[in-house]
Amino acid sequence: MLSIVATPIGNLEDISLRALQTLREADVIVAEDTRHIGLLLKHYEIPHKLMIALYDEIESRKVGELVSLIRSDQKVALVSDAGTPLISDPGYKLVREVINQGIKVETVPGPTAAITALTVSGLPPDKFTFWGFPKKNKISEAEGTNIYYVSPHKLLKFLKLLKGNQEIVISRELTKVFEETWRGSVSDAMIKFANPKGEFVVLWHI
Ligand code: SAM
Repeated sequence: MLSIVATPIGNLEDISLRALQTLREADVIVAEDTRHIGLLLKHYEIPHKLMIALYDEIESRKVGELVSLIRSDQKVALVSDAGTPLISDPGYKLVREVINQGIKVETVPGPTAAITALTVSGLPPDKFTFWGFPKKNKISEAEGTNIYYVSPHKLLKFLKLLKGNQEIVISRELTKVFEETWRGSVSDAMIKFANPKGEFVVLWHI
């Protein structure tokens, strides 16, 4: 069986009992960065497992090997460096192939930065569009609340693509020591985040 296991987006306490149990029972852990998940396993005193790396560049060719493992009755847990696998992270091709082959897949839900930011934003949560990371020089938006992941070195470039007077919400370092949710105009955001550091989610409502 394949288990998709969500892990914390910062605060190590944000992990479910079921996620810990699934990781304890797994034969194999498939992770983006195996060192990163190693720290989580160590923190929760979960014995070291066979670890297999899975990142975007190799996902297509790794799928066959992983499906064979799952077919041979190995319990495989898929994790990301942070948050929910598949959400702007690898795993979709594996899950699709597992489903196509009629193998059982379960998900162990937990944190995801987009939803965490939405809940603390104060913006209407009833209709929202999650766009993931922005595509080159183009920002799509839809009616309702728009949610983007933005890496720090691209934040200012991203803000320049928005209207200066647009009211936005920026959540930074959610669940971590320097967590901050800032609200204001795009022009003010460019001053406030002139030297962006950390992980960012940008939201606005239209
Ligand atoms: N799978 C993850 C999830 O479920 O949220 C997202 C992984 S994606 C590669 C990483 C991006 O998620 C970061 O660049 C940032 O935009 C956002 N992110 C992850 N953790 C965050 C945090 N603690 N605070 C703010 N944004 C975060």
